[in-house]
Amino acid sequence: MTELPEASLYQPRISFVSLGCPKALVDSERIITGLRSEGYELTKSHAGADAVIVNTCGFLDSAKAESLAAIGAALKENGKVIVTGCMGAEPEQIRDVFPGISAITGPQAYESVMKAVHAAVPPKHDPFLDLVPDQGVKLTPRHYAYLKISEGCNNRCSFCIIPKLRGDLVSRPIGDVLREAEKLVKAGVKELLVISQDTSAYGLDIRYAESLFQDRLIRAKFYELANELGNMGAWVRMHYVYPYPHVDEVIPLMSQGKILPYLDIPFQHASPNVLKAMKRPGNQDKTLERIKAWRSVCPDLTLRSTFIVGFPGETDADFQFLLDWLDEAKLDRVGAFKYEPVSGAAANALGLEPVPEDVKDDRYKRFMLRQQAISSEILKKKVGTRQSVIIDEPGPTVSKGRSKSDAPEIDGNVYVASRRPLRQGDIVSVKIERADAYDLHGTAA
Ligand code: SF4
Repeated sequence: MTELPEASLYQPRISFVSLGCPKALVDSERIITGLRSEGYELTKSHAGADAVIVNTCGFLDSAKAESLAAIGAALKENGKVIVTGCMGAEPEQIRDVFPGISAITGPQAYESVMKAVHAAVPPKHDPFLDLVPDQGVKLTPRHYAYLKISEGCNNRCSFCIIPKLRGDLVSRPIGDVLREAEKLVKAGVKELLVISQDTSAYGLDIRYAESLFQDRLIRAKFYELANELGNMGAWVRMHYVYPYPHVDEVIPLMSQGKILPYLDIPFQHASPNVLKAMKRPGNQDKTLERIKAWRSVCPDLTLRSTFIVGFPGETDADFQFLLDWLDEAKLDRVGAFKYEPVSGAAANALGLEPVPEDVKDDRYKRFMLRQQAISSEILKKKVGTRQSVIIDEPGPTVSKGRSKSDAPEIDGNVYVASRRPLRQGDIVSVKIERADAYDLHGTAA
């Protein structure tokens, strides 16, 4: 959950709660940019605000529960509550629990959110007080920013309701994406995190249409996007990439140092039976071979992924297949979820045997233990090397940062001892001296 810092004191004031994934965070940033451009101020406390906006996440039942709790707290403390985001796509779920909500809008419904805010608290717009920076308002610290390249998804993974909530893939014109990235870098952003539901499918819906950027026509395609972003002088990190064959073309950009040697690929499983039931995109059969080939081109490549254990119909043999696959793939960073049926997901109607909760728990623990051993082995090998580290939280003697292998919030940290003061966003060379299960420790040169 992200709450915003107290701003200066003129009215009207909005308190904002942003829940969910980085994609939802980008939606929040857009709404907040709109609010700020109309003269609304942001406040930390619900009680002192004229209205509260809650940007919800509706992906898993646990996320829905968190969203409902945030709405309940906002209603109690304030009373004027506007709900937006994924859960807003099914408003009755919210109205049934909280009939007193002022307005409910779905994901990416920026204009409807603004209309609802106008109805609840009319704006006091004064163009001379319009303090929105050129690059918009960022909820992430100034030195890194998420760059959303498309909305929606053309895949139909059976456990996922995102296409229902957000619709099919709609790619932004590449000129717009690159201009936004350029503004962010000019404003001091040192790391761009490229996000979408399916980054490697970028441009498919617009037939990879060309658009102008710096007097050149550029195709809206994954490779061109990576290449152009790689010219901007910032770290560029690719998230939510599916292993389509054209991803291979981007690996040399990583070995050349143009973009970070980092791929976040949500594999979700390895067993062909489970992947088939999950209806996952990408050619998953030859993934191990592809990983090997990528590593031969770019030995420093970091692979991060997420997995679901206990998907309906997952047998002991499927699970063992997954563990053996993990041993071979040696992924650097891995997150896992125990399968939760999401209401409205196609997986519920597949007629597959649900995995009992105790079996899910056991598999989850075994999975995490196995991966922990792999990840710590990989981290140990970094002891004695030099790594470039971006500083997130400077400290008097030890600062917290991340190496090229670590995305913010989801991966590990590097704790950097330094005699000279470091600033947020500095990129420093660090000699790694120690590794623990998730993090590295070292000294700045
Ligand atoms: S790729 Fe699959 S899991 Fe990801 S958003 Fe699309 S349908 Fe959902």
